[in-house]
Amino acid sequence: SALALTSCGREDTGTGTEGGGEAAAGFEEGAAIGVALPQKTSENWVLAEQLFNDGLTEAGYEPDVQFANGGVSEQQNQISSMITNGVEVLIVGAIDGAQLGTQLQQAKDAGITVIAYDRLLTNTENVDYYVAYDNFQVGELQGQALLDGMAERGEGPYNIELFAGSPDDANAQVFFDGAMSVLQPEIEAGNLNVVSGQTEFNQAVTQGWKAENAQRRMDTLLTGNYTDTELHGVLSPNDTLARAILTSVKAAGKDLPIVTGQDSEVESVKSIMAGEQYSTINKDTRDLVAHAITMVEGLAAGEELEVNDTETYDNGVKVVPAYLLEPQIVTQENAAEAYADDPTLSELTK
Ligand code: BGC
Repeated sequence: SALALTSCGREDTGTGTEGGGEAAAGFEEGAAIGVALPQKTSENWVLAEQLFNDGLTEAGYEPDVQFANGGVSEQQNQISSMITNGVEVLIVGAIDGAQLGTQLQQAKDAGITVIAYDRLLTNTENVDYYVAYDNFQVGELQGQALLDGMAERGEGPYNIELFAGSPDDANAQVFFDGAMSVLQPEIEAGNLNVVSGQTEFNQAVTQGWKAENAQRRMDTLLTGNYTDTELHGVLSPNDTLARAILTSVKAAGKDLPIVTGQDSEVESVKSIMAGEQYSTINKDTRDLVAHAITMVEGLAAGEELEVNDTETYDNGVKVVPAYLLEPQIVTQENAAEAYADDPTLSELTK
């Protein structure tokens, strides 16, 4: 929750850079704002729905916030309807950021500003801004937490396995790359041993970010590689998958490894406090939604929006100007401090 809008690391061009799209004409109070959310694959999306509805209404707009639980074509249809209904801004958390090209062209033709929210929109010219927590940094923090957690328990070399998110979500590769930037040198140095040999993103992915897919893969990895071998750590890209991995290890009757996570989900914070899951990431949804709404207000006023990264998020067609927020690693040690201003989570750390 302690959000510091400081420089965003590696390819940061300095905070406060102006220079996203062109300054738009602005629009009136009461304007319709479309928010297309993906499936409810983690708690942050569920929280975002309420926060967008409340925050946009409070700011004087008319929000249309939709989940696409049915999948990509449902999301395509929802976005088309929002355009037909005359929204001024489209905020999109894509299921598959590469599958909305037709709809985003429609949006462009209608003069709508498009903001990619949390997940990048790829292979299209028609995305004006990106707002998210720094995804690469999330991965780096996860990789480092995995190393730190295992070191707390004893000397290496350590046996580990790697999990990635859903390959249709542009974030999944970035999380994985961030983590591997920390882990790969240790693998090469012989300090880490991926016993299954599955070190490629494609081998590590979890379709649809679904818990059952991660659990099934962990079951298979355990049966195939760990009957007589200790498992020290598992890189998990988020909390939902972390808990599925822990469930699998428990069912196999093995000692629990160090498992990373992301999102600060209630069940995972409980698990961390109980000494099971090792770490999570605090990406306070309240701050991300609040910033997205600030962007809407800037656009309404006809301003050019502030961005702090104009180099990293190449979507295949253009580099999308981004406003990145800083993620924070959370373990049992700093949980109370990290969640101090979160009414739900702070209760769990007492
Ligand atoms: C988000 C993560 C989330 C995942 C699954 C990603 O795009 O950045 O916070 O865990 O989707 O919902």
